[in-house]
Amino acid sequence: MAADPRGFLKFSRQNPERRPVQVRLRDWKEVYKESDLSEQVVQAQRCMDCGIPFCHRGCPLGNLIPEWNELVGRDRWASATERLHATNNFPEFTGRLCPAPCETACVLALNRDAVTIEYIEKSISEVAFAHDWVKPIKATHQTGHNVAIVGSGPAGLAAAQQLVRAGHAVTVFERADRIGGLLRYGIPEFKMEKAILDRRLGQLTEEGIEFRPNTTIGIDLTLDQLKADYDAVVLALGSTRPRLAELPGSDGHGILPAMDFLPHATRALHDRSFTPPVTATDKRVVILGGGDTGADCLGTVLRQGASEVVQLEIMPRPADSRPETAPWPMYPPLFRISSAHEEGGDRMFARETVRFELDSSGQVVALVMAEVALDEDGKLQRVANSEERIEADLVLLAMGFVGPDLSMFDLEQRPTVSGRGTISVDEHFRTSTEGVFAAGDARRGQSLIVWAIAEGRSVAHHVDAYLMGNSDLGCPVAPDSAALAIM
Ligand SMILES: Cc1cc2nc3c(=O)[nH]c(=O)nc-3n(C[C@H](O)[C@H](O)[C@H](O)COP(=O)(O)OP(=O)(O)OC[C@H]3O[C@@H](n4cnc5c(N)ncnc54)[C@H](O)[C@@H]3O)c2cc1C
Repeated sequence: MAADPRGFLKFSRQNPERRPVQVRLRDWKEVYKESDLSEQVVQAQRCMDCGIPFCHRGCPLGNLIPEWNELVGRDRWASATERLHATNNFPEFTGRLCPAPCETACVLALNRDAVTIEYIEKSISEVAFAHDWVKPIKATHQTGHNVAIVGSGPAGLAAAQQLVRAGHAVTVFERADRIGGLLRYGIPEFKMEKAILDRRLGQLTEEGIEFRPNTTIGIDLTLDQLKADYDAVVLALGSTRPRLAELPGSDGHGILPAMDFLPHATRALHDRSFTPPVTATDKRVVILGGGDTGADCLGTVLRQGASEVVQLEIMPRPADSRPETAPWPMYPPLFRISSAHEEGGDRMFARETVRFELDSSGQVVALVMAEVALDEDGKLQRVANSEERIEADLVLLAMGFVGPDLSMFDLEQRPTVSGRGTISVDEHFRTSTEGVFAAGDARRGQSLIVWAIAEGRSVAHHVDAYLMGNSDLGCPVAPDSAALAIM
């Protein structure tokens, strides 16, 4: 029963507040102000506890949203913490970073503003950590089996936590120097401070997970060695190969994939002895790609002191309101203003890059672009005589990712890949190799943290069943899941 059955009639949605732009541009701290808990109690009371909570289906994790909304609405934060963690290993990540498909599926969103589900989720997580309610949950027995997980992003970490709690000995191998995958070196500090990640890693370590950073499987250890030493292997390698701009001049200096830039910016904040090879200070920057990665580049270059920034997107500007092609409760393509977009830079839509101009030393100096428009078949066509030139000292490619990097595996050890370049699995997340499973972006293709956690939980269920004959671990998604959610 909703905490206040008439709450949605009495209270309006209050969005979480961001710190003033001029203040936050001077630091790297999270852009949102601290949560006012009494306001969150009111906001949770807007949840109607609908007969059919579509928010459940909007969320790949099947989060028990009306249940924890009701508990927060009654000021029962400890119980809300328990319900939240029942389906989500890392709500402090999704509470900050998820595009919240649950909110676009909220029944209230049919004719009013949705419940602030994501912010309530974040508030519950923060209250839980502040009260030390997030304790290690140690397995009550050991199965005698061991599992290797390759990749320490949200998919690998969720799988590891589920499996260690089920009593398996779990080792996570990570090629980077620190654990976390894109949570560590992709997502900038202003979206999630790394202390939030480290806090959760403390719990995982205490639960018994062994972490082996600086270890590339395929180089430091072969996949065959893992298969010999472990009863099961999970490949949670992410989708790390960037889509590149193969255009005249694209091999110039100063043109680089976003993930050759963002990790250095974050590393420099935590390691004073590290000097990033490239920064945007006093540079004219062009970002190719209008998505989340592009926005993360934007917020980063603005904080580094770029003199001018333009973000180009090849698709036309999305609509301001839900288009007919994406009716409720689907996740609609909308014109969104992220925190970085509030902070500066220009955005241009329907622009295709034609070529880069380089100086005699091979350094990029400008980019030539052209306008594009959708034709009757929905294909992008270049508009005649629409070429424009913009000067640029740094061009960041944020145009997406094309699949996991399997290049370090010997050919005969490589799992079968799909036509999309992702690792193929059967309905049990098993690859073509006996005892080897795959999950997360490596399997699904470039996606979201919430999907990575859902896949990590699901692959853990199937690994546990493979080792034990059956499994009590939850399994929120199947490999062919689409749910109502995006990507
Ligand atoms: C810049 C950026 C910003 C993003 N922002 C958001 C956001 O705000 N919200 C959101 O929901 N999603 C966001 N995403 C997407 C999200 O981060 C990913 O969907 C998610 O991290 C995928 O999780 P994963 O565990 O499958 O892979 P990853 O997080 O990519 O982790 C894979 C890990 O495997 C390691 N690895 C790969 N090969 C090997 C090997 N051979 N040996 C050892 N280790 C290996 C990699 O080093 C990496 O650490 C963003 C993505 C990017 C690039």
